[in-house]
Amino acid sequence: MNVRTIPCLSDNYAYVLVQDGHAVVIDPSEEGPVTVALGDPALGGLVLDAIWLTHHHWDHVGGVEGLLAEHPVPVVGSRYDLDQDRIIGQTVAVDDGATLPFGGMTARIHTVPGHTLGAVAIEIAGNLFTGDTLFAGGCGRVFEGTLPMMRASLAKLRALDPALRVWCGHEYTIKNLEFAEAMSAEAGVPEPAVSARLAEARAQRARGETTVGHPLADELATNPFLRWDAPAVRAAAARMGADPDDPDAVFAALRNAKDRW
Ligand SMILES: [Zn+2]
Repeated sequence: MNVRTIPCLSDNYAYVLVQDGHAVVIDPSEEGPVTVALGDPALGGLVLDAIWLTHHHWDHVGGVEGLLAEHPVPVVGSRYDLDQDRIIGQTVAVDDGATLPFGGMTARIHTVPGHTLGAVAIEIAGNLFTGDTLFAGGCGRVFEGTLPMMRASLAKLRALDPALRVWCGHEYTIKNLEFAEAMSAEAGVPEPAVSARLAEARAQRARGETTVGHPLADELATNPFLRWDAPAVRAAAARMGADPDDPDAVFAALRNAKDRW
């Protein structure tokens, strides 16, 4: 299976999964760039099988209606979002552990409430689509859930196969890693892995490339929001007055600091 990253709006990413002439689109922020990708002559024109959504925010679902006009396909989102009736066009509700077929493969749904109460991550064929829950080097703001709920959701993702490639909803990587680097440096525990990844991300952006699609292992090594038990992150939280032995307190201190940063 091939994953095509489709830049949308100012810094969003939609994804088109391609297998044997068929496609699934994840989080079509807008219709135009996705339609261009589906019609790419290099791919011979793709048959769209379904639209899968990580959460209801407008910058992830804005292209659904336009795509449906051309492709009347199932629209998959969380049970919570269907119950709330807050995604126009949603036809399928998924719960934690639900599976979705595509091209002879099986996607698995992980519910990850926090950024929103209906947020899901989607795992398929060695890839993990995380929406606005887990970013490269960071995590989403906690809009609807609680901070412990968000940490529990990230703990769920952190326990998955470290070889999974992570595809997130926004290009926030440089800002996220700048925050991570500043936190650990101010705590007196500089982290070379974070600085190295930041340098790599800056180089990728300078070349006009995206920074997404890294293995989850890179997040485990450099993302402070998955590392509430790492010495640098615990030290940073302690510096902010949080109990470094309390993972929820460490996570909350970091997330609140990032909101203000
Ligand atoms: Zn969002």
